[in-house]
Amino acid sequence: MIEQGSEKTGTKQLTPISELGEFGLIKHLTKYANHQNSSTVKGIGDDAAIIKNGDHYTVVSTDMLVEGIHFDLMYTPLKHLGYKSIVVNLSDIYAMNAEPEQVTVSIAISSKFTVEALEELYDGILTACKNHEVDLVGGDTSSSRLGMVISVTAIGKVKEKAITYRNTAQVGDYICVSGDLGAAYLGLQLLEREKRIFMENPQIQPQLTGNDYIIQKQLRPEARKDILEILNSYKIQPTAMIDISDGLSSDLLHICHDSNVGCRVMEENVPIHQASYQMAMEFNLNPISCALSGGEDYELLFTVAPDDIKPLEDLHGIAIIGRITELEKGYLLVGKTGREDTLTAQGWKHI
Ligand code: ADP
Ligand code: MG
Repeated sequence: MIEQGSEKTGTKQLTPISELGEFGLIKHLTKYANHQNSSTVKGIGDDAAIIKNGDHYTVVSTDMLVEGIHFDLMYTPLKHLGYKSIVVNLSDIYAMNAEPEQVTVSIAISSKFTVEALEELYDGILTACKNHEVDLVGGDTSSSRLGMVISVTAIGKVKEKAITYRNTAQVGDYICVSGDLGAAYLGLQLLEREKRIFMENPQIQPQLTGNDYIIQKQLRPEARKDILEILNSYKIQPTAMIDISDGLSSDLLHICHDSNVGCRVMEENVPIHQASYQMAMEFNLNPISCALSGGEDYELLFTVAPDDIKPLEDLHGIAIIGRITELEKGYLLVGKTGREDTLTAQGWKHI
């Protein structure tokens, strides 16, 4: 038997992945991935890569969903899963302020899936493509020993001056977020609870009625193309942008670390839907913690220069949650009483 990895160390001292964590692992594995083409404008480290193609720029992003890690088919309809697998990728393209145009979809499937089941998956995939005006242009199909893996690559287009990176937030900028946060996480808690109850006693039917909002945010999220349209209509170009996949804290800290700035977030301005608030109470969870660390919201988090903020001040659907500060001021969360805490990335990561 080969002990894989020992070629690198020459000894038995092999390193567990947990020692590096997701971002540490990516950094470690790609540290020698130098660019050899001048067309590679941005590689690893943002929501999507940027490639220069003459007078326009191509944007590429890829994401993988793995059964048992990212989704559970006990409560995930395949149609929703297909929809979600597309929009989570489009969300990364929108986060660069770009317009998605094509996707490729690769699937690995075990023999437990029927043709009809896969038709449902593709129904969702094609509905998302139609809603976002993107074309399915290819992919790959393989068998798998266990369960399903879906990998989607999205390709988009953007003009050079519109490209919005993570590392360009400026001191004094306002921090804005679309929609509301924490709902997808609370939807997952509810689905997991009902699954546990069902597994223990299959006679009991899941209690999901009245919780459509948070369940929909979890099972069939939407990518916020409409937010780019709103910003465009006011001629606002964010100074930096990221989509919230790991949780507000974690993703805001990406902007701060990459831009070399600090932040000051007002807790009372963090948008939380009434349904999320109620479900957090039911689970004895702090709603603000769910909003800060929940993840899978697929909302857009962006920074706006002070001169541009006026039109967004009273706009429904975009919340101004704080300001970008000097790095020395740190990463602050200001509570309702004025108490200041340090913002920490506690988003749960499934790598
Ligand atoms: P997002 O949450 O926006 O989907 P990720 O956290 O998955 O982004 O990835 C962060 C960055 O690392 C991205 O630029 C992504 O393309 C890159 N990346 C992730 N995994 C790998 C890998 N296995 N090899 C090379 N680059 C990777
Ligand atoms: Mg992203």
